[in-house]
Amino acid sequence: MGLFRLLFLIAIIAGAFWLWRRFSRATTTRANARSSAAQAAPMVRCQHCGVHVPRNNALAHGEQWFCSQNHLEQGRRRDEH
Ligand SMILES: [Zn+2]
Repeated sequence: MGLFRLLFLIAIIAGAFWLWRRFSRATTTRANARSSAAQAAPMVRCQHCGVHVPRNNALAHGEQWFCSQNHLEQGRRRDEH
């Protein structure tokens, strides 16, 4: 009976350890995904209206960034004057 209890305890500990590992791995993966997404998409400022947009969604014109095609064209026009 003592051996059975010991095996039962080991099974519970192993199960708890497995659950804990599964949970901690899931949260770590989520945290990594979040931080890598933040690194992949730095914010840039629209030169026309000053709004901050992720660089993935922004439009570049030389060194300048714009939030939309409309603002890119307006910003470009302003440069040419
Ligand atoms: Zn803009």
